[in-house]
Amino acid sequence: MAEPILQVENLSHQYQDGFSLQVEHFVLYPGRAYALTGPNGSGKSTLLHILGLLTAPHQGRFTFEGRPLSMSDGASVRHYRRQVTLVMQPAYLFRTSVFNNVAYGLRVRGLTDDLTQIRVSHALSKVGLTGYETRHAHRLSGGETQRVALARALVLEPKILLLDEPTANIDVDYVARIESFIAETRMERQMTMVVSTHQVDQAYRMADEVLSLRDGHMLKAGPANLFQGVIEASPEGPRVHIEGGFQLYTTASQRGLAHIRISPDDILVSKNLLSSSARNSLKGTISKASVEEDRIRLDLDAGIQLTIHITRQSFAGLNLTVGDDIYATFKASAVRVV
Ligand code: ADP
Ligand code: MG
Repeated sequence: MAEPILQVENLSHQYQDGFSLQVEHFVLYPGRAYALTGPNGSGKSTLLHILGLLTAPHQGRFTFEGRPLSMSDGASVRHYRRQVTLVMQPAYLFRTSVFNNVAYGLRVRGLTDDLTQIRVSHALSKVGLTGYETRHAHRLSGGETQRVALARALVLEPKILLLDEPTANIDVDYVARIESFIAETRMERQMTMVVSTHQVDQAYRMADEVLSLRDGHMLKAGPANLFQGVIEASPEGPRVHIEGGFQLYTTASQRGLAHIRISPDDILVSKNLLSSSARNSLKGTISKASVEEDRIRLDLDAGIQLTIHITRQSFAGLNLTVGDDIYATFKASAVRVV
């Protein structure tokens, strides 16, 4: 497993009205997409503003790319800000043309005019705003403003993209297009993303991992073993290519970009490679074992993170402990499109 790109510890922030955000531990792995869900007022925007350093938290330790981030060290804050881009909700644009808005960050980074032109045109076409270059940014509709702000952020190809309700003001006709623009750019550039949304279906479409906020607290993680990938045909049957170069056999009939999930109950655990008809086998190390009611939950680091449920009897019978290398085996039919 790669090192985290960002780790935040003991984060807390209070507003005068009494709201308090408390997140003990928040870890982002490179290239992964996280969705923050939760009702209005649960703290999604506050958390994103803090991650984007727009709001200085009252307390909290950041570790970015393995190095502690010191808020008083201008150079390290600047470095972080170049790699981490937030698109606010509502989006805010500079008082100039659409072109200048999208080009702004590229110019700051010293890109040539020719390259800037190409990248801006490409980004605007992706958000359906070709021909808007000379329009004044403050004379756009809410949805258009949102789309320009998204183009301005994505064109910078940040390592971490923070999106606050990116389709909140966008006409339904454009939502799918915007979601795929974000997905494509993310995949091409291996960007890490945190996207807030109050729509649970959108969270599952856009993210590998869904986190829930309630009253400023992070709830337990959402469904496990959810991956985004591309399904394609192969002589041995359909395969899905997911993060980390892994390929899993599936029986899904769909092709192309999809979210797949493997139920933690459909995974068999063994100490040696099983010879069975199950098509998928991954070797990994048990990173955590926890008791959940009548079963044991194993967290397996197999290059991808897998959650496995096994019975207490199997756990005892296999004599497993944290740190053991085991095989996780599951059928092609267990790899389901969600
Ligand atoms: P969400 O994005 O999930 O809707 P917010 O982070 O915007 O939640 O808000 C969380 C809580 O903090 C709400 O009760 C909101 O009224 C309050 N709040 C947000 N921003 C401020 C602010 N700048 N000053 C005071 N209170 C705020
Ligand atoms: Mg909000």
